[in-house]
Amino acid sequence: MYQWETTRTGYRQLSGRRCILRTRLPSMECAVDAIVKATCPQCGDVELEPADLVLRICSIADACTYHFSCPRCEKLVVKPAADGRVVTLLQSVGVPTVSWELPAELSETHEGPPLTIDDLIDLRLLLDRPDWAEQLATT
Ligand SMILES: [Zn+2]
Repeated sequence: MYQWETTRTGYRQLSGRRCILRTRLPSMECAVDAIVKATCPQCGDVELEPADLVLRICSIADACTYHFSCPRCEKLVVKPAADGRVVTLLQSVGVPTVSWELPAELSETHEGPPLTIDDLIDLRLLLDRPDWAEQLATT
C-alpha cells in the first residue's frame, strides 16, 4: 500500500491512502526536513510541517489519531492512525506525540435501559430540589 518514490525535486516520497510523507534526500545540502502531505475533507491535499501535526497514540491501536489545523480553511482535521506504519512514519519525521488512554468507563458493564430525554428532564428537575441527593439515592 505504501511505496517510497524519489521525486524530481529531490524528495523521497511515501504515498498511501491517507497521507503522503516527503523527506529531502540526505544528499541535499540543507538539513533533512520533512513535509507531510495530508488531506483536508474540504480543501483536499495540503502540505504541513511536522510541528503542524499532533500524533495521539492510544494503548488501543484503533483509537490512534493525528490531527492538524488545515492551513487553508483553518478547520481541525482528525485522521485515524490505526495503521502502525502511519504512526512510525509520523514519529520518524518528528511529529509531536501525545499518549492517551481510553476512559476506564468504556470497559464497565452497564445494566438497565439506556437513558431517555425524559430521564434527563426528570434528573434536571430533581436537581432543583434541596433534597435531590436523598431522592436520587432512593430511586
Ligand atoms: Zn481545509
